[in-house]
Amino acid sequence: MAVKNEFSWSKTRDEIFRECLRKYYFHYYASWGGWDPAAAPRTRQLYVLKNLQTRARWAGDHVHRAIRAVLPTLRGGGSAPAAEAVAQQMLAAMRLDFRDSQQRRYRQYPKKVCGLFEHEYELNVADEQWKQTADHAANGLRVFLASDLFRNIRALPPDAWLEVEELASFTLSGIKVYVQLDFAHRAGPDIAIYAWKMGGANAAPNDLPLAGCILYAVARWPVTPEQVAAVEFDLASGAAAPRRLDAAGLEEMKDTLRDSADEMSFLLEDPAANRPQPEEVFELAEDEAACRRCNFLKACPRWA
Ligand code: SF4
Repeated sequence: MAVKNEFSWSKTRDEIFRECLRKYYFHYYASWGGWDPAAAPRTRQLYVLKNLQTRARWAGDHVHRAIRAVLPTLRGGGSAPAAEAVAQQMLAAMRLDFRDSQQRRYRQYPKKVCGLFEHEYELNVADEQWKQTADHAANGLRVFLASDLFRNIRALPPDAWLEVEELASFTLSGIKVYVQLDFAHRAGPDIAIYAWKMGGANAAPNDLPLAGCILYAVARWPVTPEQVAAVEFDLASGAAAPRRLDAAGLEEMKDTLRDSADEMSFLLEDPAANRPQPEEVFELAEDEAACRRCNFLKACPRWA
């Protein structure tokens, strides 16, 4: 049975939608089905491009995966693994990815094998810059494993741990919303939800992902919005920034999220079937600066 392309909302989707409508079309519609090697060549090409990662994102992804592998071993008093061993394991996995990507293996297995934007677009990246990327990832992991937060997590009683799915979602006014949460635990009657950030200290705080985390928590566990703290943990500095939203702030964010989903639906020919209008309706980004890091550069009519 064919997999249906159902509409869902996420912060990433909103960001791509605001950045470039054509990119949004490529990412969420035109690449659909491209996982099948027998798909139409353009669909397949867009799917391969969609799955590329920049080296910065790739580094962050590896740190997330390493933390995700370590945390469950601590539940119930498990001893912490040696930080250096975890870092070396992660670096070994990054080296494997790098080799695969350099050999363009991702073109055959776009979802399973890492594909780096820098290789696909043959960017001139010096060895020293690749090393900096790996060092940045290893440092982020070391910062986390040496942090007070990590110590606190180890000290949590097993029943304070809350299960978090990798792809957490909830429904708001009939819209399926995906959120990124990395860890959650009870703190007395309250709940703390964490997201690991790679050097996001300079990024302006955005209430939308925060609201997403809080709405997810309220839907999943018996708590009020005021009882949920969403914490961004900066893997570069080890700083943790807990934030909360009151009921009024949360209502405002719900409206923002619904408006964003509404705007997206204006570009659908059939919203119920999530069927888009023709490609030309999805305009190219006005600001060409957006193109510099766009995965779809080589498929985009502006540059083809
Ligand atoms: S290359 Fe530029 S115009 Fe084309 S899809 Fe990407 S961001 Fe949009």
